[in-house]
Amino acid sequence: MNHERSHALFSRAQQLIPGGVNSPVRAFRSVGGEPFFVQRADGAYLFDVDGNRYIDYVGSWGPMIVGHNHPAVREAVERAVRDGLSYGAPCAAEVTMAETITRLVPSCEMVRMVNSGTEATLSAIRLARGATGRNRIVKFEGCYHGHGDSFLVKAGSGMLTLGVPTSPGVPAGLSELTATLSYNDFDGATALFDDIGGEVAAVIIEPVVGNANCIPPLPGYLEHLRDLCTRHGALLIFDEVMTGFRVALGGAQAHYGITPDLSTFGKIIGGGMPVGAYGGRRELMSQIAPSGPIYQAGTLSGNPVAMAAGLAMLELVQAPDFHRDLTTATARLCEGLEAAAGEAGVTVTTNQVGAMFGLFFTNEKVTSYAQATACDIPAFNRFFHAMLERGVFLAPSAYEAGFVSSAHDAAVLEATLKAAREAFQVVAAG
Ligand code: PMP
Repeated sequence: MNHERSHALFSRAQQLIPGGVNSPVRAFRSVGGEPFFVQRADGAYLFDVDGNRYIDYVGSWGPMIVGHNHPAVREAVERAVRDGLSYGAPCAAEVTMAETITRLVPSCEMVRMVNSGTEATLSAIRLARGATGRNRIVKFEGCYHGHGDSFLVKAGSGMLTLGVPTSPGVPAGLSELTATLSYNDFDGATALFDDIGGEVAAVIIEPVVGNANCIPPLPGYLEHLRDLCTRHGALLIFDEVMTGFRVALGGAQAHYGITPDLSTFGKIIGGGMPVGAYGGRRELMSQIAPSGPIYQAGTLSGNPVAMAAGLAMLELVQAPDFHRDLTTATARLCEGLEAAAGEAGVTVTTNQVGAMFGLFFTNEKVTSYAQATACDIPAFNRFFHAMLERGVFLAPSAYEAGFVSSAHDAAVLEATLKAAREAFQVVAAG
């Protein structure tokens, strides 16, 4: 594969953009090598500036659940653009969007649109703190909620670790307010609440972890957190930026039957445009400005073009059997990958929830962050590059979930598995 033009662009980019990219994982740092630069995207495919084609399992990190450049979304955007790009005053599409979200996700009685997942989670935390009058938040090791200061905190070892900043620039005074727990550790959560439960404003969680590869909750775990939060007067926030409208039409909360107090969304909700949202119970959401004192605002929030894209996307995911078919396709992919690895004598396991999946170079079923990080990462990196050379683009890190879209039809899946059978042989050869 020729990468001459991508290489030239990356060289130019590195002079002027930190790491040559506008979001770190795009730089291929963890897998090594250089990123390709995209010329265009269509259906299940990305095409780079050197004319190479890739089957895409990144899907813009989740939004592209109907495939790239879907005509219905593109045409909705084209129609919206004719009427102007931004108004700074309300428009009808914002109302339709709020009606759509609150109908599809009943725990959201009210909703506020923002411009990214990060904004959604930051705003939800501010609301939780404002509404409860408490300052501490609890997050989980391996969960990512955007780059807000309060979230850039990881756990050390042990049952609970309080406030270790992982990014310079996060004031210790703030990170100390973030406690971290091990995902799927029932006793750790109980112990933390026994200790500081009365000070916790909110527990924020990816109900299915998609930022430490893909880790589903153990049976009863989300219920356990729901119960602890209720008993201690803390809010439960489901960060459904990845899972929303993907693992089920109503997100992970519908899939697992748990009602969070607040939810955050992004990705699919914007159809590929920069959009996020947060929502929850009316009594909480009405504390947001201007109906209440908790401030949150956005010049471009509810942008008419972004709303048009998001609404078109949400229309498509409501098609009958959409999620069932996507889940079946994703299961076929996971089974195929395990079989292909087995043929090559490579041990892998997979996790799957709806159209989200994870591939782990280990012989264990992965249910924790510790297990996900203990996998054979060099083997994943070899597999990643062997797949890329064969025209399949997986997330360029062992710690990201994979995404399947409705454009990944039987032929695309078969082509993926053909590449995988060869790529696992490469891994086996060391
Ligand atoms: N929450 C989750 C679960 C995410 O996966 C992400 C992004 N990958 C975010 C929040 C942040 O969203 P954004 O990158 O749009 O700010």
